[in-house]
Amino acid sequence: MRNPYVIEGPAQIAFSGGRTSGYLLHQILEANGGLPPDVHVSFQNTGKERPETLEFIHEVETRWNVPLKWLEWTGRSTDGGFRRPSWKYVDFATADRVGTPFASLIREKGYLPNVMHRICTANLKIRVGEAFMRSLGYEEWDSVMGIRADEPKRVARMRKPGRDNSAGDPLLPLATANVTKPEILAWWKGQPFDLQLDPQGDLGNCDLCFLKARGKNVAALRREPKLAVWWLQQENVVGNTFIKGYVSYSDLVREAEFMNSQIEMFAHAQAVDDGYDERIADCMCGD
Ligand code: SF4
Repeated sequence: MRNPYVIEGPAQIAFSGGRTSGYLLHQILEANGGLPPDVHVSFQNTGKERPETLEFIHEVETRWNVPLKWLEWTGRSTDGGFRRPSWKYVDFATADRVGTPFASLIREKGYLPNVMHRICTANLKIRVGEAFMRSLGYEEWDSVMGIRADEPKRVARMRKPGRDNSAGDPLLPLATANVTKPEILAWWKGQPFDLQLDPQGDLGNCDLCFLKARGKNVAALRREPKLAVWWLQQENVVGNTFIKGYVSYSDLVREAEFMNSQIEMFAHAQAVDDGYDERIADCMCGD
């Protein structure tokens, strides 16, 4: 069988900054003896990725010597509108870290993304990636994605006949090679560096993405309440909510505060009953 990691260009490798896309990139570099000249790696920054994600991307590009292109959406273009946006190159040092591209898109559109209408993925990620490849002169190319064999719904969506492939024909080497998440996590354990985010914590991509499970976003807010600020600001600007079925991110903040207060009360009761023990308090905080 043909090695699924051998890539014939032109192609674009969509690098998300996660362990899966890092593993994919590594396998491609190994199978091709480096990056073929017409294969391009890009990361489209929304400004809401975690600092750990940006540091991981930077480690990948420097340790593996990959000419990875950091791109940011800057607005709709005068000739192609949202479909052919304007964008700019950034790098690890200059990449936005305060959600500017994402907030600008929301202001231009005048509404928020939601589960049914992911204007953020479509514009900040897909359309910028497409515009980048077109700027290099390509009209057709493969879009190499880190979608694994244990994500059958995503695989099916990408391979669905009639899909709009104007941003590249999907190529899914990990699904073809039958690679699953446990295999990737085990591989990273053997590497000299890794993404400094908990693989079960779901903090990759945008920090409080509305697609993440409510419990995971609440858990993130319990640890870092200030994460809510940006999301609440966007809701206030537009006067609407990201998440259908909840009033707003303020619901998640309240839930996180309530859970923390319950744990504090419990920790206090334990201290009274058993005598204060810092290790128990630490354990409860990290529970
Ligand atoms: S991670 Fe979530 S919020 Fe960020 S671009 Fe993707 S869908 Fe949008």
